[in-house]
Amino acid sequence: MTKSRLENVICPFCGCLCDDIVLELEEGRIVANENGCAISKSKFLNHLKDRMNTPSVRIDGEFVSVDLGKAIKVAAGILASARRPLVYGLSSTENDAHREAYRIAEEIGGVVDNTSSVCHGPTVIGSQESGEIHGSLGEVRNRADLIVYWGANPQFAHPRHLNRFVRAPGIYNETRELWVVDIRKSVTAGVADRFIQIEPGHDMEILGTMRALLRGHTLDVEQVGGLPIASIHDMVQTMKATKYGILFFGLGLSQSRGKHRNVDAAIRLIQDLNQYTRWAMLPMRGHYNVTGANKTSTWQTGYPFAVDYSRSYPRYQPGEYTAIDLIRRGEVDAILNVAADPAAHFPGSIVSKLSKIPIINLDPKQNMTSLLAAVNIPTAMSGIEADGAASRMDGLPLYLKKCVEPPPGVKSDRDILRLILKEIRRSGS
Ligand code: SF4
Repeated sequence: MTKSRLENVICPFCGCLCDDIVLELEEGRIVANENGCAISKSKFLNHLKDRMNTPSVRIDGEFVSVDLGKAIKVAAGILASARRPLVYGLSSTENDAHREAYRIAEEIGGVVDNTSSVCHGPTVIGSQESGEIHGSLGEVRNRADLIVYWGANPQFAHPRHLNRFVRAPGIYNETRELWVVDIRKSVTAGVADRFIQIEPGHDMEILGTMRALLRGHTLDVEQVGGLPIASIHDMVQTMKATKYGILFFGLGLSQSRGKHRNVDAAIRLIQDLNQYTRWAMLPMRGHYNVTGANKTSTWQTGYPFAVDYSRSYPRYQPGEYTAIDLIRRGEVDAILNVAADPAAHFPGSIVSKLSKIPIINLDPKQNMTSLLAAVNIPTAMSGIEADGAASRMDGLPLYLKKCVEPPPGVKSDRDILRLILKEIRRSGS
């Protein structure tokens, strides 16, 4: 029996992109995952489960298996003849696939949006308004003495975040304090040194109050957002006295009432704190390469998401060219969905509209979207069966390894996208 061991493998699941995974292989199959969390183990050990076996095309409501060439032709035909095509997803695939997706969007005069429009899009907009005070996860691990999670529950969504970057021994920080600010006592709040429970929808007021107190103003109210002024004052004084603080924030801040204004308020608080000491802030990015999707989109189109090529040049307008808004208004007449499952994550009213739009679905596995699709094309799983670059939640680029061969005949996202683009160009010439 041929056995091998792969070290320093990067886990392609969440934005931590843990780069210390050790895989045991037998006869070219992954049989063990060391160091990974439960999610990582499941992703690597079950990568062959629930796969889409062959390309398929829906004919009279039934899926018919076809060869790859036929699936590419049908997909290219749908996209080339669409009036308002949408290219969507991209957060669970690697950067070269992104480039090919942007090329297709430009070629067909479509809109290209990634999943950040339903997660940290407001974070990006907040940063465009007020700037970014970034720190790296390495800095956090080695320097931070006060860590705050605001509206984030990493013990659930990023299981190794605390162990790798917060609890692991650092070089300069002998003692560390962990706070959680949230509307309910989450699993992470249960392991924090201090849990600060706030009322839902009051994040921006609390952040504004913190700024006012930091600047020495006195306020004639007794509480804000469920917190007594005295405890907000105490929070601010502790944050001011810290040597290196980091504010990690999740969708509890970016997607609650106020959205990008919440993020804007947090950025301005961190800017103010930097007049006294060192503070940084980082979004807790979910999909492993959603940060990369924002970066590659910005490199190639000039904008991080919600990019419209209908006038041949890129235009950017969140709320106008974001996937859900386009679908809600009934504008979209074809979707190229790459490495995402919108049918499982979009609101029900949008999913019922999705079911009436021809979808070309590229994914390794069967999912909710594959059930609605007009064309399904199986792809290799990036980071396990295909290599490529991805960006960690702090922006650090890392190179994903190809650990095993994909199932026979299955190509990477970037190769399938290249074939679709080639066919669009061929059929249009
Ligand atoms: S924390 Fe995230 S990246 Fe790290 S092993 Fe778990 S799922 Fe993978």
